[in-house]
Amino acid sequence: MSKLSEKPVLIIGGGFSGISAALEITEACSKSVIVVEKNPYIGGRVLQMYKYFPKLCPPFCGFEINLRRIKSGDEGRIQFLVSSEIEEINTIGSADGNGYKVKIKQKPQYINNNCTICGECAKVCTENRLNDFNYNMDSQKAIYITNISAYPSKYNIDAEFCKFDSCKKCESVCKYDAINLNAKEEIFDIEVESIIVASGWKPYDAEKITNLGFGRYKNVITNVMMERLAADSGPTGGKILRPSDNKEATNVAFVQCAGSRNENHLPYCSAICCLASLKQSIYLREKNPESNSTIFYIDIRTPGRYEKFYNRASSDEKTKFIKGVVANISEDSSSGDLILDAEDILSGKKIKFRADMVVLAAGMVPNGPDIKTGNIKFDYDANGFLFNQNENSGIFSTGVAKNPADVYGSIQASTGAALSVLQFSVNKKG
Ligand SMILES: Cc1cc2nc3c(=O)[nH]c(=O)nc-3n(C[C@H](O)[C@H](O)[C@H](O)COP(=O)(O)OP(=O)(O)OC[C@H]3O[C@@H](n4cnc5c(N)ncnc54)[C@H](O)[C@@H]3O)c2cc1C
Repeated sequence: MSKLSEKPVLIIGGGFSGISAALEITEACSKSVIVVEKNPYIGGRVLQMYKYFPKLCPPFCGFEINLRRIKSGDEGRIQFLVSSEIEEINTIGSADGNGYKVKIKQKPQYINNNCTICGECAKVCTENRLNDFNYNMDSQKAIYITNISAYPSKYNIDAEFCKFDSCKKCESVCKYDAINLNAKEEIFDIEVESIIVASGWKPYDAEKITNLGFGRYKNVITNVMMERLAADSGPTGGKILRPSDNKEATNVAFVQCAGSRNENHLPYCSAICCLASLKQSIYLREKNPESNSTIFYIDIRTPGRYEKFYNRASSDEKTKFIKGVVANISEDSSSGDLILDAEDILSGKKIKFRADMVVLAAGMVPNGPDIKTGNIKFDYDANGFLFNQNENSGIFSTGVAKNPADVYGSIQASTGAALSVLQFSVNKKG
């Protein structure tokens, strides 16, 4: 291979896609990579899953393999800037292909790498914050560890709730000199040769689907919340309890395409929601073999190798399927149960279905358009995915920033993006 330029590659987003691209690049050649991640930890949304299909292993399995690869790699060639976001991206020179000057803002790093996550600081903290990792279903101390797999493995401080100088209890109990409450935000510039956008997704705001009652009825939750309810490290310690009264949910309805494939909400299919609901039906049975799930669908999409997963989940006699759109959800206020008005297309009848909890299979919305880009423009499609950027620009995309995908597809796309970056670098040199 011709000699590559020494300028690093910027990866925006440290989810499974961004991490994979970083590893593929640094394992293939001598280039270095800077991963800018807005969360205080890397791993993205996959870490918030209880298990992931098709194997149904916990996310830390795949994540641990990545961490091992990161740690066994050439020290320092992958730099993770967590709690960081892009402020501005500008081309260097006037033509495409000369690289980019990128302004990065990193939030104050109140906790340094001396932290052993002993937890003494959290014991004395008096303030609380909502636990966003658990989709705000519970709260935690203002000094907190984000999740059990957190990397970097250290506590964080939520500046919105910390009382800083008027408290300082955490600083005084820390035996490792790991806390500096005077840390400041940092803004700095880097120069990079190329950019991979791996900024992933956020859940569609289900409150916008007003007929389905999310935000109005406590027992209507979304699929991402269901992942945290099932997780042992989640707000209920892994018990699937309905939010209104903490009773075990035993008769759960899943509403597919909640907002998806709908011109008024998300016009596209998120590709994974059918699989996610089938997976969550398996969770229900695993937690309580007597529970029932009913999946309301337009059509079940489990392409390619996922047919086997569909067969596995649908062969369970307590998983029922009703082909039809749910027109409305109302609540029986005396019990907290939900009544779904739906059409059962196969029988041709309108039905009312009672469930003790409803899970909305809401789609994935790309984060790309939220990235600040200064004088350059990312070529998003009408839905905010960055599928095709002019390849002479050295800007590429991967994972759900590129198109709705599962983890496997996201990682494949990352290998492709890594190769594109290397080709770009070689061609520029040649
Ligand atoms: C309910 C549900 C269940 C699912 N279950 C499975 C499953 O079982 N198996 C499976 O294969 N797939 C599953 N998926 C799909 C899976 O979540 C995605 O394939 C995966 O998250 C894609 O990884 P990613 O790195 O592209 O995106 P993400 O996981 O979203 O990671 C993107 C990262 O970029 C960061 N970021 C975003 N914007 C910025 C910015 N401006 N600056 C810096 N950083 C930024 C984010 O903080 C995040 O860390 C599920 C999806 C849903 C909705």
